[in-house]
Amino acid sequence: MSAVISFPKKADEIISYNPATGAEVGRVENTSAEDVENAVEQARAVFQMWRTTSFATRRKFVMKAREIILAEMDDIALLISNESGKPIAEAFSMEIAPVLDLMQYFARRAEKLLKPRKINIGLYGLLGRTSKIVYQPLGVVAIIPAWNYPFSIPLGEAVMSLMAGNTVVLKPSELTPFIGLKIGEIFEKAGLPENVVQIVNGAGATGAALVEAAPDKIMFTGSVATGKRIAEAAAKNLTSVVLELGGKDAMIVFADANLELAADGAVWGAFCNSGQSCSSVERLYVEESAAAELTRKIVEKTKKLKQGAGDSVTTDIGAMSSERQLKIVADHVASFEKEGAKILTGGKSKDLFYEPTVISGANNSMRAMQEETFGPTLPIATFKIEAEAVKLANDSEFGLTASVWTRDLKKGRRVAEQIEAGTVCVNEVLYTHGIGQTPWGGFKNSGNGRTHGIEGLMELVQPQHIHVNKLAILPNAWWMPYGANAIETFKGFAKYFASGSLFQTAKLTPKLLKRIIELRKK
Ligand code: NAD
Repeated sequence: MSAVISFPKKADEIISYNPATGAEVGRVENTSAEDVENAVEQARAVFQMWRTTSFATRRKFVMKAREIILAEMDDIALLISNESGKPIAEAFSMEIAPVLDLMQYFARRAEKLLKPRKINIGLYGLLGRTSKIVYQPLGVVAIIPAWNYPFSIPLGEAVMSLMAGNTVVLKPSELTPFIGLKIGEIFEKAGLPENVVQIVNGAGATGAALVEAAPDKIMFTGSVATGKRIAEAAAKNLTSVVLELGGKDAMIVFADANLELAADGAVWGAFCNSGQSCSSVERLYVEESAAAELTRKIVEKTKKLKQGAGDSVTTDIGAMSSERQLKIVADHVASFEKEGAKILTGGKSKDLFYEPTVISGANNSMRAMQEETFGPTLPIATFKIEAEAVKLANDSEFGLTASVWTRDLKKGRRVAEQIEAGTVCVNEVLYTHGIGQTPWGGFKNSGNGRTHGIEGLMELVQPQHIHVNKLAILPNAWWMPYGANAIETFKGFAKYFASGSLFQTAKLTPKLLKRIIELRKK
């Protein structure tokens, strides 16, 4: 994998384009493999200092970075929109606002969430032993994100890493390098000590160099194929990896749902960020009796969406981020048509703008109902009974998120728990990545590990067990020398002590006393 990638001798550059206009946003130098390695080394050197900073100090830097974002919010939103093509509205609602919330949450709560924890060790406690868990930082966290939420995903992961006491090397997607540089600039302005957060730039080869440089953790967001490559390369150094990968998220709508709301939810869930969300609704299953009404509402609402350049305040749907992505969407729409589904609205593109597209008559045997589209398509299929809906939703290699829509919350929860996905919402869709307090991650091929929430914070620390013998006066009964009496005592351990019962363990007392005398005599 990374071994076969050859690095350019001379530093070359990445050109970043505005997908809506094709205009150049700017050029950045590719970081050479050697400089990536240096960055990891520098991050490791400064880790020794950063790990000993107090939570209060870390909090101060993160809250300062937050203030800077608030002060520069309009410019940051414009940059996000210009580099990714997304509507400026979504730069605020889906990137800036959620990450500011995550920042204040982990800045204020990380200390409590990572507080050392006592362990109840049962009968060993009676022997004067205590155990506690201390959460130690890992070292250098490498963050390798995708381009679709280029601000909130890497920044959120960087903040969590820092609060846990780690240093960070971040390689933004090659499609959004300036947003990555902006993240670095924000921390610099916040006065963060040098090298605690570093940005390296480039495409896959730079990412591979970062993996190769043996960081202590890799937080990866991207495709299944790249995720597998990274996991394979990381295994060489036994680097643990969190993989946030693709999705083919199902939305199940029962006939008793609020269909107006479900239609609004489907339109937003499928088309926000031009469908380029890992948790986009990519398959809608509606109960047969409600299919006509729900489909009519969805089509009506879709036709009203305004598509245009992201920097216009009235734009609902922006441009796709890349031609490669647009081609996948066009291919999937064509394959839906070829396999007998019907395009109800959309299906056309101009430059990098792909129209929001609603498709009826879809079913799971169609190729585009199985592969991730990552674009503004909403294929609709039907089901007759609850069990069928669950089966259809689970018939996928992916399992990132899903949603269930019904007025019967008991049924909603029941169905939710049967769906193989990392997050399942009832009467809600897509947005929980924005709730930093909740874990995010997928089942099946959607990934490994978690980001966000206490589970995500735990990915960024290593639990250390501190065990203390407060009565360190006698040798342990299980120490050497062994002999017949020792064996009898150990049998007693198996029979009585290992029962966990104090009453049973009391039966061991005579044997234990004999054994202690024996040990003292040796
Ligand atoms: P990608 O896999 O092409 O690239 C992701 C990142 O990996 C980029 O920064 C890229 O430069 C880097 N990279 C590529 N090859 C590499 C290698 N060999 N070693 C190290 N790094 C390498 O993905 P993409 O097209 O940028 O993103 C789209 C995918 O991301 C979709 O599948 C989407 O579902 C997924 N995604 C998942 C989540 C989630 O939370 N699960 C969130 C956002 C996006």
